[in-house]
Amino acid sequence: MSATSTVHAPDVPGDDCRICAAPWPCFPAQLDYVAEFYGRPADLATHLAGWFTATVTELSTRGARFDVDALYRRHLGWIDLTRRPRPSRWR
Ligand SMILES: [Zn+2]
Repeated sequence: MSATSTVHAPDVPGDDCRICAAPWPCFPAQLDYVAEFYGRPADLATHLAGWFTATVTELSTRGARFDVDALYRRHLGWIDLTRRPRPSRWR
């Protein structure tokens, strides 16, 4: 990503959002993901599981202390809100 990007994301997994400085995925990032992965909760979960894994790996590499359960909830705990049945015409 370029330095001028306005995408709400960390520069490195485990960092806070580089745009709003909130713990990532921040609320704007969550909204973007809900739109991007609408109707595809398994794909969203897979994507965020990748970020979760990268974050745990990065923080472990840094020797940082962290609560893995809190990281899991932050990365994946909010996605149940996106689970809605698709309209039948989309199936
Ligand atoms: Zn943000």
